[in-house]
Amino acid sequence: ARSQPALVALLGATGSIGRSTLDVIAHHPDRFKLVAVSAHRQVDQLADIAHRFQVQSAILTGVDRHLPGLATKFPEHCHLLHSQEQLEAVVSADDIDIVVSAIVGAAGLRGSLAAVTAGKTLAIANKETMVIAGALINRQARQNGACIIPVDSEHSAIFQAMHAGRPDEVSKIVLTASGGPFRKFTKQQMEEITPAMALKHPTWTMGPKITVDSATMMNKALEIIEARWLFDLDASQIEVVVHPQSIIHSFVEFVDGSILAQMSPPDMRLPIQYALSYPERIPGCSPRLDFCQAHQLEFSPPDFDRFPAIQLGLEVAQAAGTSGVVVNAANEVAVDAFLNHKLGFQQIVPACRAMLEAHNFISEPNFEEIMSLDQWTREETIKWMHACC
Ligand code: NDP
Ligand code: MG
Repeated sequence: ARSQPALVALLGATGSIGRSTLDVIAHHPDRFKLVAVSAHRQVDQLADIAHRFQVQSAILTGVDRHLPGLATKFPEHCHLLHSQEQLEAVVSADDIDIVVSAIVGAAGLRGSLAAVTAGKTLAIANKETMVIAGALINRQARQNGACIIPVDSEHSAIFQAMHAGRPDEVSKIVLTASGGPFRKFTKQQMEEITPAMALKHPTWTMGPKITVDSATMMNKALEIIEARWLFDLDASQIEVVVHPQSIIHSFVEFVDGSILAQMSPPDMRLPIQYALSYPERIPGCSPRLDFCQAHQLEFSPPDFDRFPAIQLGLEVAQAAGTSGVVVNAANEVAVDAFLNHKLGFQQIVPACRAMLEAHNFISEPNFEEIMSLDQWTREETIKWMHACC
């Protein structure tokens, strides 16, 4: 057993991944100590967490710091912080060992980047970080001795299965996809999809943005790009298979044709815990697969015609450069518009493709170029939506 618990900063503590991470940490008080947490607007939830875990710092990035009574909600000893700069300083502080990046969207990039720049272990759930800045993040991690451990269930599965061989013995990876709620919808039925329909996922309970991404299969597109950077693969080495039961979380095929899979009931606490305890495995609070019951595992190829996001994801993984920045930003704007009944479900992926084709490609963007292109794309996507709908 370790003598000292690992000190953890959790960005996005009030979200779906955030809450699952809190479960894991609460289950292992001897292994992990939560010292810093962030949220955007959910003040009371963050204050509850600050009390429960007696954290040193709590960061609220989306709330007016002069809000009456704000500070009194938090424990007296807790530093209540507000700015992005303060978030980055907390993440980089000497006493932090592990940073869990669980903010949703491009808003998670700065925290992830600060973590690798400070040489921390980065447990990465915020896939958008890798999609928009995978090359930059990898470079910073390499230069500063940071370790990046995936939390996304597919990437955790691949990371685990890859331990069976050397990197140059991997021939390809196969990402599993549940297929989402519209797996069996016809194109005509897909024209009628409402936000309420898209927010009902068959196998996972997640935040609203990623739930819509799963329905369009943009989530799988983002995961293809994420995998390209996490595992340094060529786009031609990445495949997708639809597996509605979400029990096998992905496959790695080695050069001899042997395929390794990782399986467990769908529950994010397992990949989160593995990212925190790596390289060790420890007993945890996730459910186990019950072989006293019958299980049927199905696999089928994705329908590229009804789900054009898959092809888009492969193209972006191949093109690299700034492609991920624009596709991600367009998707964030389009999903938000769809959830607010301002854009049709079937327009989300076309919006992303339109922005990919319209933007000025840069092959090795720096941080400033990434941020300004993200902003450009958000404005252009709004114009595109006005023109098309
Ligand atoms: P949620 O929407 O449930 O939570 C998002 C978190 O981010 C909240 O803590 C929220 O704070 C915070 N947040 C939102 N906007 C901002 C912002 N602009 N600046 C700073 N913080 C912000 O998302 P999920 O937990 O579902 O997903 C988080 C990330 O993990 C995503 O990148 C997703 O793709 C990835 N992921 C999620 C999985 C899941 O099972 N949920 C599985 C695999 C990956 P507040 O509550 O105050 O608004
Ligand atoms: Mg996933």
